Amino acid sequence: MSARIFDKVALIGLGLIGSSLALIMRREGLCGHISGHARSEQTRRTALEIGLVDAVHDSAAEAAADADLVIVCTPVGVSGAVAAEIRDSLKPGAIVSDVGSVKAAVIADMSPHIPDGVHLVPAHPIAGTEESGPRAGFAELFEGRWCILTPLPDTDPDAVRRVEAFWRACGSDVEIMAPDHHDRVLAITSHIPHLIAYNIVGTAADVEEVSEQEVMKFAAGGFRDFTRIAASDPTMWRDVFLHNKDAVLEMLGRFSEDLTALQRAIRWGDGDTLFKLFLRTRGIRRGIVEAGQETAAPDFGRGRMDHDGGDESG
Ligand code: NAP
Repeated sequence: MSARIFDKVALIGLGLIGSSLALIMRREGLCGHISGHARSEQTRRTALEIGLVDAVHDSAAEAAADADLVIVCTPVGVSGAVAAEIRDSLKPGAIVSDVGSVKAAVIADMSPHIPDGVHLVPAHPIAGTEESGPRAGFAELFEGRWCILTPLPDTDPDAVRRVEAFWRACGSDVEIMAPDHHDRVLAITSHIPHLIAYNIVGTAADVEEVSEQEVMKFAAGGFRDFTRIAASDPTMWRDVFLHNKDAVLEMLGRFSEDLTALQRAIRWGDGDTLFKLFLRTRGIRRGIVEAGQETAAPDFGRGRMDHDGGDESG
């Protein structure tokens, strides 16, 4: 069992990520006490009922009081408001962290509310599924996945080391990155793929000559995988696009150019261009499997009827 890293941890937001953190902290004994807060009474009640936390509180400020580590696990659009709410109850020396899929905007929103003597260590676990809510979590979610920390240049190195030790104890590998770089990397590896999934499922639903029944009945592997991604939490993903606007728009510009080139290749019967790209992308897929970030099993390791196995990280 790992050594205890923090005495009291507060989780603000008890959905997929917050509940997974609660479960792994308990399993590994990473802290002495877990307090929690979520927006709705129902989530707070569920979290207590299923034993995610030792105590739930009606406000984020109460949950954060006396905590050594506060992890904000809400959609990124409310990170600033949460930081403002907890600022007066943070104890000196406390660490405030988060799990948001966007880093520069979250840091800009949260840092003005972090009091002197409290350390902000932003984090983003590259792990998730398309499920949400307090019952969606599982202790193994972060195992073998990356967690990216984006501390500011003047962040206390000891606080960064403790957060790094925490994520390693959750089973993750840790990388430190500049926030802007994180946002550009994630724009192309995660945010745009989600946008494409939302878009293609929306387009299929709007094509007049193909009925919705036919879309469901004949959904081929590729489309089914898109629908799984497109089932991801609407609030979370709305906030991701609104808060990573610049990087997403920049990468989307490049994506659209490349798509136009493919459109042209199809129109002109340029099979070479198509074949070369498809060959190169197959190599990239193999590289991801070799890096241990994906399974080589057919159908992504899912059984024919088992639709819950996908990894979909924000
Ligand atoms: P989720 O399952 O939808 O949970 C969000 C939680 O935040 C819920 O407990 C919700 O409370 C709470 N919340 C919302 N607004 C709040 C507010 N104003 N004050 C207090 N609590 C509030 O979302 P999630 O998937 O865990 O995502 C949480 C964060 O993790 C997001 O920032 C996301 O970018 C990041 N992330 C997600 C993934 C992924 O794949 N899902 C991966 C990596 C990082 P209620 O239940 O009461 O509504």
